Amino acid sequence: MVSRVIPVDPFDFVVFGSTGDLARRKLLPALYRRMLAGQALQGSRIIAVGRRDLDADGYRRMAEAALREHAGPGTLEADRAAAFLAMLDYVRVDVEGEGGWASLADRLDGSARMRAFYLSVAPRHFGPISERLAASGCRTPETRLVVEKPLGRDLESAQALNRRLALLFEERQIYRIDHYLGKETVQNLMALRFANALFEPIWNARHVDHVQITVAERVGIGGRGGYYDRNGALRDMMQNHLLQLLCLIAMEPPGHFEPDAVRDEKLKVLRSLKPVDGLGDVVRGQYLGASGEAGYLEDAENPASRTESFAAVKAEVANWRWNGAPFYLRTGKRLRARMSEIAVVFKDAPHSIFAEGAGGAGPNVLAIRLQPDEGITLRLTIKEPGPGGMRLCEAPLDMTFAETMGAQGLSMPDAYERLVMDVIRGDQTLFMRGDEVEAAWRWIDPIIAAAEAAPERPQPYDSYSSGPEDSLMLMHRDGRRWRALAA
Ligand code: NAP
Repeated sequence: MVSRVIPVDPFDFVVFGSTGDLARRKLLPALYRRMLAGQALQGSRIIAVGRRDLDADGYRRMAEAALREHAGPGTLEADRAAAFLAMLDYVRVDVEGEGGWASLADRLDGSARMRAFYLSVAPRHFGPISERLAASGCRTPETRLVVEKPLGRDLESAQALNRRLALLFEERQIYRIDHYLGKETVQNLMALRFANALFEPIWNARHVDHVQITVAERVGIGGRGGYYDRNGALRDMMQNHLLQLLCLIAMEPPGHFEPDAVRDEKLKVLRSLKPVDGLGDVVRGQYLGASGEAGYLEDAENPASRTESFAAVKAEVANWRWNGAPFYLRTGKRLRARMSEIAVVFKDAPHSIFAEGAGGAGPNVLAIRLQPDEGITLRLTIKEPGPGGMRLCEAPLDMTFAETMGAQGLSMPDAYERLVMDVIRGDQTLFMRGDEVEAAWRWIDPIIAAAEAAPERPQPYDSYSSGPEDSLMLMHRDGRRWRALAA
């Protein structure tokens, strides 16, 4: 596996919730894969924190099983795995009580090197953990604190969390993860826009008809029904992932590719979003059961639930660049395909010189695929090959990153690999600032309030379909249509 590697100084990476799903499935494999990619981690420590009665060897066994399952086929090389597991230590701490904090402080032994605390626990623990880190002397000026979504469930709770963290940590120390921003394609979107002169002149409402952002999943909510049912698609996906993607498409070029410059531009986009009045531009749905598979209400174990497993919103960025080119956002569970993509749909050619029956001639579409098969496609109209006159057809200019990078001997890193190393290096560019999170809630709160107050239930939709009928109508009434959901 070849990859470009920038050296890092030895660090302490402390994982709260180290026995949980995220730590085992993403964080440990991410650090391990960086080591396989040649990142020298000698002298660094990964300190797992948990409430279970384990010692370091017990945790190493758990970590080894996690790597075997999640680090990727054929990656568990005995020597390297042993070297990685030797970096692991375990400290028992009850994050709800006082027990274990002194041991953690001892283990960190007053060293001045960078330490990151990754809070891979439920958000209700964020405040208490931060306070106990400070009280037990674990916090240093070089400390970084990493928090995962959900960052609040509305503006008020997000502000309360930001205020609580700000009492103990400076903004430069807080890393709010949105793992969509760690995806290679998402970063490539910034390279595409700001490293090529080609797109900028046409990146506006004069040339772009509209933008579609889709995050579709085939899975339902089975297994995490309680958590999901308290949140729903608007809070769980739209407020963070989809709005972050919208920001990257809509933002102005920052002066520099530097954390606050990028985040200032994203914030301006969020603040330019036109308030959505009522539910006229909003569709909510709940999936029905499919042969043998439960529907949303059964999965949520709440027959009266009014929580949406699908949401679509027409958003408008009210500024000079985007006025008149709406952003249609949709996300849902149990849909036809697992597909995340951003599609920038350009306006039709102003005049066709070809005969009416020539065919083709759909609009140009720049599709940025996040999953599966990360890559970028530009749909063009070309001449159909062969004699028989000028017939037009659509053809994609296609770049699948895995193939392109594979040809250069590079591998596609997982989003967490990138984000974890950014924390260690101290680069906040791909992390959300507190004011961004609040601006996103400020826009979406009234939509959620209107949805919760509405007498209508979310519209039922068939499992493995394209979502509720009304979502198709949201586009049709504007003379547009969603791109097909296809893997
Ligand atoms: P999880 O599987 O439920 O793990 C929670 C962890 O917290 C476990 O290690 C658990 O220990 C520990 N914990 C709970 N109460 C504790 C206490 N009193 N003292 C010490 N440790 C305690 O959750 P997860 O899926 O890993 O998610 C962790 C966080 O990441 C959540 O905020 C979640 O919203 C967020 N997140 C997760 C994902 C994902 O893919 N999983 C994606 C995005 C965001 P035990 O093992 O002993 O119970």
